[in-house]
Amino acid sequence: MTVGILALQGDFQEHEAVLQRIGVATRQVRLPAHLDGIERLIIPGGESTTIGKLLVTYRLLEPLRARAGRDLALWGTCAGAILLARQIVDGLPGGQPTLAAMDIVVRRNAFGRQIHSFETTLDVPILGDQPLPGVFIRAPIIESVGPTVDILARLSDTTIVAAQQQRLLVTTFHPELTPDDRFHRYFLEL
Ligand code: GLN
Repeated sequence: MTVGILALQGDFQEHEAVLQRIGVATRQVRLPAHLDGIERLIIPGGESTTIGKLLVTYRLLEPLRARAGRDLALWGTCAGAILLARQIVDGLPGGQPTLAAMDIVVRRNAFGRQIHSFETTLDVPILGDQPLPGVFIRAPIIESVGPTVDILARLSDTTIVAAQQQRLLVTTFHPELTPDDRFHRYFLEL
């Protein structure tokens, strides 16, 4: 199995390093042809407005929309979660290109500016009893989820920070920036 990592902008190298560490082949995806034979794709953290524009420029938006959650499992971390959401609150004025694949509403930059980035530990029952380190960098929050979406993790104030809709996974934080590879292993099983 080769896992694709969208490599237009953002922290794709960190995702790649985790997968290589656990012995999984990876491919950087920058053009539609790079998706051939790929059944899983990670959309990294970065800047959702930039990644969205580059998806249009490199003609990846339509093929990804057509395959999202069907024959292509997708995991969006942070900016990637924004790109997967059906609706974005506080997005770019006038709208920003997105995949709109998953029935969630996200609010961009919900914790404020860069200085309000933070680290915490999270309870993620599907990953076992051990708390998961959560790194939040100008993170969005998941404001609401549709009826077919499972909530995987919340902050202690109940804010939703991870969710899954069948083969679509989102985390508003960055497991790729920690030594804990359980979310990567979980994605490989979707
Ligand atoms: N604030 C960024 C955005 O709106 C996301 C930040 C991140 O991916 N760490 O796209």
